Amino acid sequence: MGCGIFGVINYDNQPVFPYVYWGLRAQNHRGHQSHGFLTYSNGEFYAYKNLDLVPKVKGDAINEWFGRLPGSIGIGNVRYTTSGKCDDVSIVQGTQPFTASIDGIKVALSFNGNIVNTQPLKKEMAENFPNFVYNCDSDLVCHKMLLGLKQTNDLVLAAKSVMESLDGAFSVTGITGDGTFFAFKDPHGIKPLCAGHDPKSKTYAFSSETVSLDMNSFVRDFELNPGELVTVSKEGFKRIQVIPNPRPAFCAFEFAYFARPDSIFNGKYVYEIREDFGRNIVKEFPQIAKDGDIILSVPETGDDSAMGVHEESGLRWERASRRHRYVTERAFILLNAERYSTIDKKINILDAKVKDKRVIITEDSIVRGDTTSVIIEKLRKAGAKKVYVFVTFPRIIGPCFYGIDMSSYGQLVGSRHNSEEIAKIIGADGVCYQSLEGLLSAIGKKEDELCLACVTGKYPTPCAQKIADAMKKRFQEGYEEKGRIYENEDVQP
Ligand code: SF4
Repeated sequence: MGCGIFGVINYDNQPVFPYVYWGLRAQNHRGHQSHGFLTYSNGEFYAYKNLDLVPKVKGDAINEWFGRLPGSIGIGNVRYTTSGKCDDVSIVQGTQPFTASIDGIKVALSFNGNIVNTQPLKKEMAENFPNFVYNCDSDLVCHKMLLGLKQTNDLVLAAKSVMESLDGAFSVTGITGDGTFFAFKDPHGIKPLCAGHDPKSKTYAFSSETVSLDMNSFVRDFELNPGELVTVSKEGFKRIQVIPNPRPAFCAFEFAYFARPDSIFNGKYVYEIREDFGRNIVKEFPQIAKDGDIILSVPETGDDSAMGVHEESGLRWERASRRHRYVTERAFILLNAERYSTIDKKINILDAKVKDKRVIITEDSIVRGDTTSVIIEKLRKAGAKKVYVFVTFPRIIGPCFYGIDMSSYGQLVGSRHNSEEIAKIIGADGVCYQSLEGLLSAIGKKEDELCLACVTGKYPTPCAQKIADAMKKRFQEGYEEKGRIYENEDVQP
């Protein structure tokens, strides 16, 4: 599932709830459907979970939260669903952190990602845990970890068994029943997870994005390696490379869309990379840039690339698309029925500024095409003469199985149409995608260091590749895709 995770441990027995709280609030863009906190004190887990955004805590209410969530170790999660059902009851059931226990062994866990080989894992968990109920893939990660702890009585071996048997993406923070904090990344490191510390208070923190370390005034230390486990306990802070020499496959979509612009990946702020994306598109499509009068961004993920387009082309970046500050849902991670009306209500176009103008819009990506087409329709109504779309993420041709909710070929306009056809469908005069080469040069990584599966069709994990191939064949044969087909038994290898 698409999520933001956070975890923190303090060695001076100080309560950590405020760190987890601000860590999650800084990452609410990674999941708005539900949130959850879990702390550990004297051998007990204390949890609070609810729907929607992380709430505001006002005045004296903080004392109530401290009472509810005591302890010096904590983990948390903000979530949007890419596994399991999407009704309110199921979203509550799928809200993390999860806990599981057997024979006096227990574990709590928060993860970001998505598990692909769910069918064999469901079977294995049902065989080992008589009361096992599957709601979503978090049940599998948590119970697989518990099973590893039960079978080996060793945290490193348990994490190894998770890394070796789960196909998919998983960055994890967790706590064992004896109060050991742990964090690890899957062997491809598809999802982000970084570590930091507070030099003043013996506090160590782990977060999907660096922005949550910044917001807590922590020092940023390192991004975990693919296949790496970190444990923090009375025995100290340990980094263990559980899977040697893994093939890294960090999600390239984080750079274009998912991450906050003020987070740092690969030593650069995400916004700097997005500015380079904008510069690259101007270099790749100089004639189109010359045919524009003004640049407009789809706020806010298009803002930074708009700056790059402005600097490279010299065109004015007209701030004529304004976003409603308090409509906070991200269009892409909304359910279909909610999407159109929210985009329409969220973005206002300043008519007088676009009338009779040739407009270049900067967009982070085109998934279904509906977000962009609503904006174009509004621009046309406002009197724009021409509308071109500069798209920073290359054309998405295949589903994601790793925690971004684009799960079938049918929903992706780019899986069926080239850029000229997409321009017609969304009502644009032209759609210009940044090339893969441009994307890689701006990020500063090679193709075989990233996951680019939704662009290239080459999936870093074997089960995902098999399912993608089977789904593609069926799609081409006209089979009707219903929901997340990779969750169906008949496409699981
Ligand atoms: S398939 Fe695309 S969105 Fe999914 S992890 Fe890979 S790059 Fe990211």
